[in-house]
Amino acid sequence: MTVDTDLCIGSGACVLSAPEGFELDAARQSCPRHEVMGPSDAVLDAAENCPVEAIAIVEEGSGAAVFPPAD
Ligand code: SF4
Repeated sequence: MTVDTDLCIGSGACVLSAPEGFELDAARQSCPRHEVMGPSDAVLDAAENCPVEAIAIVEEGSGAAVFPPAD
């Protein structure tokens, strides 16, 4: 997963809802804790609830979009 730091406004919502997936850096930008991790409903919820849709999740290997979903 990735966080677009041009979009992230540092709300911290993803860190609160999925602390295993995200942390805030010194500039209050969200950073994924892991480039690759197993499926996580909490991380998916965090991506869905990010107010600026800064979080992108793809399947390892296939690269298929998990969030935002492909059209
Ligand atoms: S929820 Fe979105 S805007 Fe808020 S810290 Fe996480 S990535 Fe940034």
